[in-house]
Amino acid sequence: MNIQQRIQELRDELNQHNYNYYVLDKPTISDYEFDVKIRELQELEDKYPEFYDPNSPTQRVGGEITKNFETVTHKSRMYSLDNSYSKEDLIDWEKRLHRLLGVADIEYTCELKYDGASINLTYENGQLVSAVTRGDGIQGDDVTTNIKTIRSIPLVVNTNFASDFQMRGEIILPLEGFNKMNEERIDIGEEPYRNPRNTASGSLKLQDSAEVAKRPLDCLLYHLVDEGQHYATHFESLDNARKAGFKVPDTLKVCKNLEEVLEFLNYWDVHRHDLPYETDGVVVKVNSIQYQEELGYTAKAPRWAIAYKFKAEQVSTVLNEISYQVGRTGAITPVANLEPVLLAGTIVKRASLHNADQIEKLDVRVGDTVYVEKGGEIIPKIMGVDLTKRPADSQPTQYATHCPVCHTELVRTEGDAKHYCPNEFGCAPQITGKIQHFISRKAMDIDGLGSETVELLHKEGLIRNYADLYDLTVDQVIPLERMAEKSAQNMIDGIEKSKEIPFEKVLFALGIRFVGETVAKKLAKHFKSIDNLMNASFEELIAVDEIGDKIAESVIQFFDDKANVELVNRLKNYGVQLEISAEEQANQTDKLSGKVFVVSGVFHQMSRNELKKAIEDNGGKVSSSISKKTSFIVAGDNMGPSKLAKAQDLGIEIISEDDFINMIQ
Ligand code: AMP
Ligand code: ZN
Repeated sequence: MNIQQRIQELRDELNQHNYNYYVLDKPTISDYEFDVKIRELQELEDKYPEFYDPNSPTQRVGGEITKNFETVTHKSRMYSLDNSYSKEDLIDWEKRLHRLLGVADIEYTCELKYDGASINLTYENGQLVSAVTRGDGIQGDDVTTNIKTIRSIPLVVNTNFASDFQMRGEIILPLEGFNKMNEERIDIGEEPYRNPRNTASGSLKLQDSAEVAKRPLDCLLYHLVDEGQHYATHFESLDNARKAGFKVPDTLKVCKNLEEVLEFLNYWDVHRHDLPYETDGVVVKVNSIQYQEELGYTAKAPRWAIAYKFKAEQVSTVLNEISYQVGRTGAITPVANLEPVLLAGTIVKRASLHNADQIEKLDVRVGDTVYVEKGGEIIPKIMGVDLTKRPADSQPTQYATHCPVCHTELVRTEGDAKHYCPNEFGCAPQITGKIQHFISRKAMDIDGLGSETVELLHKEGLIRNYADLYDLTVDQVIPLERMAEKSAQNMIDGIEKSKEIPFEKVLFALGIRFVGETVAKKLAKHFKSIDNLMNASFEELIAVDEIGDKIAESVIQFFDDKANVELVNRLKNYGVQLEISAEEQANQTDKLSGKVFVVSGVFHQMSRNELKKAIEDNGGKVSSSISKKTSFIVAGDNMGPSKLAKAQDLGIEIISEDDFINMIQ
């Protein structure tokens, strides 16, 4: 078999596995086997760039940065939907259809209304060529690079289905992934995202497609715009789209008449809470494409479709108490303790109140009867107060002024939604929270030590901070409750072993507010050692790519605190890695400092990603678009003609791959 055939074979195979995993949810090979194949393909593509394909499965990892998303005009307009809220509304709608079409029997399809951001996918010759947001329906933003990272969207489809067409669907964030993302945010002291829909649509506009690739986004399809007119009914078009590899939920159903439509509505009004994603209603469509064409559109929406909105499931119950939780960063979260009540199949006892502003806005008070709603979030929300049931002696809520655990007066800085307990080193949940973060898997990854043991060690007075972990001995921990000799030894070994964890993870482990995994990586790479970072000024910090005022201030504040400096010095003395390794250091220089590069075309000696990494490792910056700020364009084979023209226009120097390698050697 020649190289080209092997490449094609791998691409076909990997496309099939992506489909099995992300669309059918039935993988047939292990993640490991998948990785081996994708690596083989990546290596072949790097070695034989003449077989580059923008729709290869290797393109799913992202990496391209888009500064400004291009506005493009939709080939055919993306309409909105008319809404209905009751059975009567639907009956009226059907009457209109009867009148307009002059027929008695109309068949419908029912689909769930997926709650996310709409997207228009354009395929030419079976290949995905662009993905554009709805925008105002006439023009949207081209977010193709980001969309390609969503594994359930086929990049190539069999042209038997249709060759030139547009497929429309909704980009959603399933609840499980959304909740997981929020747990991670809370972990670095960020406010959690409010709901999956906004987070999904926000994700489409992220500049770094590699970031998008990390988000567990999905795409559910609901409409084919087919110039070839292959299908007679809406159902047939979606059924075939599903066979062609698109994720068309099997909740889609043909209904012979309005009766069956109403049954569908009733069923999903109850069962929608069991779905892995959010839905706020049902979309009913006339099934016949011919009828659809006869009915046409109003200025705003198709006449052949209507959305039916579910009533949000809400219950009312009494608010017994507002309590306050203290997080690792000292952030205070008010929690409503409710009279237990049944909501969407579960007993609810607690609801989130977010922060002081939220309490004030809703004017919720202890003793009030409140409306509680359950969205996709882990804990339900309070939506409002039933003022008719407010007790006569009710008093406005006075937000906590002191920490519920250590009784220190709370502070709230300008622009912060939350109150904080400033007693960082003396407040138990903050102390144990920081240590728990320090030992967690993505940080120091200490085996043999869990969250509960941390609390126990703290309670017994054996540790007051994460540096104390390194002073622990087996003899000290054996007497602890439920601690066998073997587990004591495991724990001490795990702590010892964490001294090998690389600097970037240690930096994340320190728990500096707003310094998550990615930021820690950036800072470690740029400053190379904790000493350099400690001495960095605000200006030096914000000069680092993607480090903004908020992070810079937080870093400075952290090291302004003598207690933190002392902790860091202790870690250093124990042998924890507080600078990047010699090996990493050897590959990094400042040779390209201050230079901005645009990379275009196909390369022979290194892959595009290796090239970009080499630029960054040598202190340069990579940008995706050519502007006056561009210093050099590294041009490979087949550089895009528009880029070439723009570069020549602005008089920017174009260099070859060899020139670039000489530059860094
Ligand atoms: P609205 O934004 O309320 O005007 O509703 C129209 C939007 O509903 C469309 O732009 C789609 O993004 C979205 N939608 C979600 N699910 C469906 C579906 N099954 N069929 C059609 N549109 C849908
Ligand atoms: Zn406190």
